[in-house]
Amino acid sequence: MSEIKKEIHDLLNEVERYLMQQEELFGEVLYPTTKVGEPKTEWSDLKTLDELNSKICNCLKCTLGHTRTNFVFGVGNPKSRVMFIGEAPGADEDAQGEPFVGRAGQLFNKILTAIKMKREDVYICNILKCRPPENRDPLASEMETCTPYLEKQIGLIKPQFIVCLGRIAAQWLLKTNDSLTKMREKVHEYKGAKLIITYHPAALLRNPNWKYPAWEDMKLFKKMYNEPSILNK
Ligand code: URA
Repeated sequence: MSEIKKEIHDLLNEVERYLMQQEELFGEVLYPTTKVGEPKTEWSDLKTLDELNSKICNCLKCTLGHTRTNFVFGVGNPKSRVMFIGEAPGADEDAQGEPFVGRAGQLFNKILTAIKMKREDVYICNILKCRPPENRDPLASEMETCTPYLEKQIGLIKPQFIVCLGRIAAQWLLKTNDSLTKMREKVHEYKGAKLIITYHPAALLRNPNWKYPAWEDMKLFKKMYNEPSILNK
């Protein structure tokens, strides 16, 4: 046997051994979310958002777990093509267990209506699932702890688009200190999705001058959403 044929033969044997081992561990179904060589995590087997929520909703991995009223997992269509991601629950969200239901949430609903979408069409969540006291900015350590939950949500929903609401969510996901203005200049990539950044609705309540550029962001998003082929041009 030639050297190259032997290498292919050995590689195929290795693949066969790996698949047999996977079958033994997990049955006949192959889980594409667990990449070859990636360790099985405690959530590898979770297939739905509800299962994930049940598994993590009593989280006490950081101090926010001790001060929250409700764990704010996320709401919307689990098959949505778009996820809107904010920063962290505020007082109203903490009280009701649902993201974007306070004043900023009311404005967010109006923004959705303006682009002819409904809360039920999209998926809405935050980087943090628990409210920081006095609505202070999330700490990096809290976001670090909570991000695997968001990543699993993204892994299950597999959105084509992510819209980051505000600087903090965008800087965290893109691992940058760039300003919101700079980040808004382009369409980014995150976990296989096109990531767009716009103003946080609470910022629009504070400064109505930003409503016009926010509307431009939303129009661009809706155009890409309706016509994904323009992304390849
Ligand atoms: N601000 C956020 O970032 N998220 C919410 O859910 C509410 C307000």
